Amino acid sequence: MDKKEQRKIVKEKLEKMTEDERISASDKIFDHLKNFDAYKSAKSVFCYLSTPNEADTMNIVRHAIKRGKSVYVPKTDGDLMSMVLIDVDTEFWFNKWGILEPKEGEPYKGEVDLAIIPLIGYDKELNRLGHGKGYYDRFLEDRKTYKLGLAFSCQELDSVATEEHDIKLDAIINENGVIL
Ligand code: ADP
Ligand code: MG
Repeated sequence: MDKKEQRKIVKEKLEKMTEDERISASDKIFDHLKNFDAYKSAKSVFCYLSTPNEADTMNIVRHAIKRGKSVYVPKTDGDLMSMVLIDVDTEFWFNKWGILEPKEGEPYKGEVDLAIIPLIGYDKELNRLGHGKGYYDRFLEDRKTYKLGLAFSCQELDSVATEEHDIKLDAIINENGVIL
């Protein structure tokens, strides 16, 4: 099965989840994350801003800011994605893919302790399948940061079709716990 077919299969499963199931699973993912050492110890965190079909990250972002962590979110510019520092006063808009991103902000060139990454599909070997644009593969290339994926368990595949440029994750959290 190629990546395109795998994305289709997972997307169909995601569509079948009810709003209640998503909220409940996202709450569990948030609870697992709060107990996860790489999150607890992180002084700086990069985190995606979730769309309705993804594990919710709004609670995570709020929690991290409240805990005094430096929080960065993605902002795209052409083929590149950079990290922008946010706080409670940051203004957001929806970009062309319907993803929230800061209206303004300079790309942060430094490193973060933890990067929380979205995905379409994953497998137990921590391979990641994205939306097919390669943004996160390019973003994560040569980065030393700890790479954590968040997902619902229905996004699990037996074996993700991978290519050489695909970047593996260090861990994945779903509603059932941590996969290492
Ligand atoms: P995704 O990870 O979003 O599912 P793919 O892994 O299928 O997407 O990658 C999509 C495209 O992005 C690839 O065909 C490739 O052209 C490009 N790409 C991915 N990683 C890199 C990279 N490190 N350098 C250059 N191009 C890349
Ligand atoms: Mg990829």
